[in-house]
Amino acid sequence: VTETLLHVTTHVRVPARLDDPGIDAPDPSIASLVAVASNDPVVLVGGEPTLRADLPELLAALPSPILCTDALALTNASTMRALRDAGMRKLRVSLHAARPAAHDWLVGQAGAAKRAMRALVVAAELGIETEIEATITRPTAPHLAELVTLAAGVRARAVHLVRLTHRGLAGREAIMLVPRLALLEDPLAEAGAVAIRERIALHVHDFPRCVAPRSIRVSPPDGRRHAFVDAPEWALVSRAYEVAFGERCGACPGLPACAGPPADYVARFGAVEIVSERPRVERARDESAATNTVAPRAGRTPATRLREVRAVVRRGGVEGDPLIDRAGAPPDVLRVALTTEPTRVLRARLIRAAQEGARVLRIVGAFDHPSAAALLRECAHLRGVAVEIAGDLRPLFALADAQLFELEGIERARIALGDPSEIDAANAFLDRALRMAKIRGTRFVVVRSTDDVERWREAFDRLDDDAFVRVARDESAITTLTPSLPPSRYRDAIERALARAAAPSFVDAIVENALRDDEPA
Ligand code: SF4
Repeated sequence: VTETLLHVTTHVRVPARLDDPGIDAPDPSIASLVAVASNDPVVLVGGEPTLRADLPELLAALPSPILCTDALALTNASTMRALRDAGMRKLRVSLHAARPAAHDWLVGQAGAAKRAMRALVVAAELGIETEIEATITRPTAPHLAELVTLAAGVRARAVHLVRLTHRGLAGREAIMLVPRLALLEDPLAEAGAVAIRERIALHVHDFPRCVAPRSIRVSPPDGRRHAFVDAPEWALVSRAYEVAFGERCGACPGLPACAGPPADYVARFGAVEIVSERPRVERARDESAATNTVAPRAGRTPATRLREVRAVVRRGGVEGDPLIDRAGAPPDVLRVALTTEPTRVLRARLIRAAQEGARVLRIVGAFDHPSAAALLRECAHLRGVAVEIAGDLRPLFALADAQLFELEGIERARIALGDPSEIDAANAFLDRALRMAKIRGTRFVVVRSTDDVERWREAFDRLDDDAFVRVARDESAITTLTPSLPPSRYRDAIERALARAAAPSFVDAIVENALRDDEPA
């Protein structure tokens, strides 16, 4: 559908709870409206077009016009017949819900729904083609299918569903009136199913493409054009109908099929419901610049559509993870480095990393940070992720028992040993950590040179069975030396470490300074 909505008046009977801008302007002359319409078929809109006394003359002056009206004045056959004879090609009645009370409340007029339905029946009996136009609002959105059923009952040929823009009262009462985009998919799908069954054309206007299921056609951004006379008194009205699009989505499907999320909606409700529908690569790029999106989780955005919630529920046993079916599995182990940055920066990074969905959050880096103990205490309370501390933990050896006690909740401490002389202190710390905070301990040896290989040849046996070796990246000399070692647990550990080091690196930036860990879990 491509149509021109010709605004013929701003006058209304009573202000509705919708998006009329509420700006008054004098009715334009028929000549000026004809000039705007040129030779295009137009839909006469307002305000309320039937409030114009010269409506029959206006209809006669335009090429096959469609009249869009509340139809309150059209319940008798003679009026309807007069409009038809004047040239009205089609009657489009504004009826926002099949439930009379809901429609009446929205338009602020008791009995309005019944009169609108009556007008539709009268028109159909006169052989006039009819349609229904409904602005989708929060209270009426769940009942779209009923409206299509009603359209079939009154022999309307089409139903036009229109987005409520944040103009006029709808702008001031958006929370009460504007439906959330993520919740429209089901009602639109139901309405679409009824429309197919009843052979009614269903048109959805002014919505982003991703709001409706694929089976529903959403008219493109240029599918409906508002037209106004070029008069100074109408300039304000014309401006009120301009629609801006925020946070362009690029190629999904992008123009010309979709102009992206409407700026008025994003300003009020954020872009999460749109971002969740973009292809993943595009999301990752856009979110860095967005101001009102949620923090991405491994580049993924939580599902916002009921279809996905249902799919998750059907799967069961996923403990409510809203990302279970989203592309991009979370890493098993995510490593976050403590750096010398301010505490608040580190805290935010740790919290964000904990939300990535990894099984293990491994904290590494500068444990001599002045706030290390406080940050670890907070991490000990993170839920849904196993927290480990790993690396040179010597700065933590000085923690008092009371401070260690507060770290209960951290699962494991993996101590890096640079020299055999560190073994006793590490053992003492791990004993205390286990006793005070139930933190299990693992030791690993860092081998950076052939000297290190020799140094640990005897000492490695003093470590527990789960001790392992980590080699430096430039391991060629170690590779050469290792075969000369006698078979032992130590040699096996070095060979395993060399194999890991030789494997293609899968260290991968997920969030700033949070890395997948390539150490054994
Ligand atoms: S994600 Fe953006 S471009 Fe894609 S359909 Fe939705 S609003 Fe349109």
